[in-house]
Amino acid sequence: MKKLIEMNEKYMMNTYNRAPIALVEGKGCRVKDSEGKEYLDFLSGIAVCNLGHCHEDLVKAVSEQMTRLMHCSNLYYIPAQLELAKRLAQHSGLDKTFFSNSGAEANEAAIKLARRYTRMVKNDTAYKIITANKSFHGRSLTTVTATGQLKYKNGFDPLPKGFIHVPFDDLGALEKAVDDKVCAVMLEPIQGEGGVNVPSKSYMQDIRELCNQKGLILIMDEVQTGMGRTGRMFAHEHYGILPDIMTLAKALGNGMPIGATIATEEVSKGFEPGTHGSTYGGNPIACTAGISVIDTLISENLISNAAKMGDYIKEGLKGISERTGKISEIRGKGLMIGAELNYIDEGIVSRSLEAGLLINCIDGNIIRMLPPLNIGIEEADEALRILEEQLEGRS
Ligand SMILES: *Cc1c(COP(=O)(O)O)cnc(C)c1O
Repeated sequence: MKKLIEMNEKYMMNTYNRAPIALVEGKGCRVKDSEGKEYLDFLSGIAVCNLGHCHEDLVKAVSEQMTRLMHCSNLYYIPAQLELAKRLAQHSGLDKTFFSNSGAEANEAAIKLARRYTRMVKNDTAYKIITANKSFHGRSLTTVTATGQLKYKNGFDPLPKGFIHVPFDDLGALEKAVDDKVCAVMLEPIQGEGGVNVPSKSYMQDIRELCNQKGLILIMDEVQTGMGRTGRMFAHEHYGILPDIMTLAKALGNGMPIGATIATEEVSKGFEPGTHGSTYGGNPIACTAGISVIDTLISENLISNAAKMGDYIKEGLKGISERTGKISEIRGKGLMIGAELNYIDEGIVSRSLEAGLLINCIDGNIIRMLPPLNIGIEEADEALRILEEQLEGRS
């Protein structure tokens, strides 16, 4: 490990504070480091490996595609891309997809589409986009501007114009921010990086209604919440609403980099040949992975397992809360779970890692769990036991 840490320091730009392990293999919800130590993975590479690590069907589909064709560009038709776009339309109720390679790119495309549709199709000069405080939409200059957290923006001025931030789950604040220059509202159905914040159902429904009345485009950033994570294929289903544009990435490829921007037929008119593009976007390998992810989520009933196991883990956390008195709130849906501690515990992640459990912690007090969707009772119990021991073990 010492060698790797030295190399990281010498050759890598300093953008991450990494845990002192290198994960070299994984199967299901367990991963192994370079020294052979095993971990229960309750992070899934940040909500990416929803099928767990190295799912057999996915590995087979992707390896087969690799032997045939890895890349050909979007100057030609790509069968796997069309199959994936068809599945996304069928499962979302939206119509058309643009493929990219990451969440930031999917959101960048959504922002460009919303603006261009407003300008070129509606012939309207509105351009502002309302987003929420504590949101996270990516690291490109525009998506970092859309993001409602200052810590991601410091030092990057000048930032693009045209974004307004309002408190999350506060309809009045959002209504007040709407003027005739606003063209869209962009929200996560459940905020991930901001601390697993679940808004009220009526908030989301009222926003849909407001967008209908004012002719605003509703963009749902489902990069983290999508692909069954919250116990529904897409988290906006919990609110009984449909956005005009939805973005996906993370779990869509289960580790193969892919992003998708999916819109209604109408809003999709904002793009024409030459207005947006991506060299890699929607390449045969990433799309083959996406098809395998969707088909496996369905064939293995992983979405209902996520709902069931999410309830089970939250129940377990409630028990921990009662026994330790150290958890002040348990939030989330399905297997996107946040447990807020009533104290700052900077060491909780490294102590859990030492004990064989990978978790994440936001702001030193919000423990985030994002296990693969195919975890069982045994693994959940093991994770809960480790977590409880580590809470108790604080000095
Ligand atoms: C992770 C994330 C992104 C950014 O995705 P990248 O693939 O890292 O660019 C955007 N939005 C949300 C909600 C995310 O969780």
